[in-house]
Amino acid sequence: MAHLITTLGPKREDELGMILPHEHIFANFPTGDDAEAKAEDVVTAMLPEVNKAQAGGVTALVDATAVGGARRADILKAVSEAANFPIVVATGIFKEPWKANWVQTFGMDSLCNWMLDELSNQIDNTGVRAGWIKLSAADDGLTAVETTLLYAAACAGRATDATIGSHTVRGRVALDQLDIIEQSGYTPERFIWIHTQMEDDFDLHLEVARRGAWLEYDAIGEHRTDDEYLNWIQRLIAAGLTDRILLSHDRGWYDPLQPDGGVRKPYTYISEVFLPKLRAAGVDESTIRQLTHTNPFRAYAR
Ligand SMILES: [Zn+2]
Repeated sequence: MAHLITTLGPKREDELGMILPHEHIFANFPTGDDAEAKAEDVVTAMLPEVNKAQAGGVTALVDATAVGGARRADILKAVSEAANFPIVVATGIFKEPWKANWVQTFGMDSLCNWMLDELSNQIDNTGVRAGWIKLSAADDGLTAVETTLLYAAACAGRATDATIGSHTVRGRVALDQLDIIEQSGYTPERFIWIHTQMEDDFDLHLEVARRGAWLEYDAIGEHRTDDEYLNWIQRLIAAGLTDRILLSHDRGWYDPLQPDGGVRKPYTYISEVFLPKLRAAGVDESTIRQLTHTNPFRAYAR
């Protein structure tokens, strides 16, 4: 049986309700992994945000910070335990030029083995197992290092059934990534196109979804109007692709370089504002449950 691998252990589908598939609890993108913070400070700052999400029906969240964005599994675990709220943690590496230097010297096999170890055992002696693999692609196409990382992710994915999610802003690049995944003997069904909303050409959303991959509209409340998101979602539903859609905010988070972690953005726009709009547009409750519970569970569970 598939489980969501979380900071609070493996969770079955029937143990969870609404799941947010792309948020951040703790991250620092400009300077990456050198950022320092105390777990207790992050818990103090982020517990109210997690509690507000829980009050809106959210039962779990996928944290999308990889190595290169100041991933701290120990901090995510501390927030989880304080809120009794499961968080899915990523292995993998976020984008250039913030990648750790060691990535350049590792080959495909070593990168695959590193991901496999985090997916099968634990991250940095925290007792937290990674749930999925987070990567990125440069805007105009994969760099050499990103290509090696994608082959490594497909290698680790094949062995563990882990999902690969990639920060990818162009549909053409997402299609190239699917080619590599298929060449590696893995499947587009275990690939999430993170930030699909950045691509203006909706035909490319359709093409990626028809190849079996997940589309992730993960800036709900920002970047596009609610009506644009509604229109895309309704067209995907009409095309029989409801089971390929993920919805999230890409919000949060405690930034260790800002005083007191900076200004937090709540994880509540979908439950408080966007879902009522979906209902008002005629989307039925079973479809809403699929979009907010079944789909994110299936996308990440293994
Ligand atoms: Zn993100």
